[in-house]
Amino acid sequence: MLERLVSFIRGPRDVNARPRPSAPIPPAVRRRLHADNSAEPLFPKLRAYGTGRPGVTQEREEWWVIRDDRGRVVGGAMVGYMGPNHPVSIDVAVDPRRQGEGWASRLYEALELSGFDMEAGSAASLAHTTMTPDGYLFMRARRMKMEPDGESKIAAVANVCPGCGPMDNRGRAIDGGANPSPN
Ligand SMILES: [Zn+2]
Repeated sequence: MLERLVSFIRGPRDVNARPRPSAPIPPAVRRRLHADNSAEPLFPKLRAYGTGRPGVTQEREEWWVIRDDRGRVVGGAMVGYMGPNHPVSIDVAVDPRRQGEGWASRLYEALELSGFDMEAGSAASLAHTTMTPDGYLFMRARRMKMEPDGESKIAAVANVCPGCGPMDNRGRAIDGGANPSPN
């Protein structure tokens, strides 16, 4: 998403980059997203782990990497602990040149198998306004595979953290965190 925006502003940076068409993001969701920090983007930090075993590996606490069959880093996630009885926060990035190849889906599956509740984590990241546009596109694609109206369901509770309850538009708990889980 950011890549497309940059391309739109500066003109195509890489003529071989594949187009990534995507439907507009609903306003209730869009206002909660924050752009990947261009001064400190996530993917270069993931790539710095270097060539290794293909598949998903945990490199160190909170840092997970996915590599292709040649062992090259193609993406990964920072899975942040947010306290007891609270879902993890999830920040995911895929090599801009390898988007649309299913790496994020494989990564999410592996993290689910490792015991993280990725749906709750995605909902928490969105409510806390720590999710990037790319992170949201992965979340949306995953949910819409399960249910055709998945996006409207996400948008309807975009401001509700499964751990904290309703949040304001800056990701602060409206009631000081006293609300029970909406589930
Ligand atoms: Zn929360």
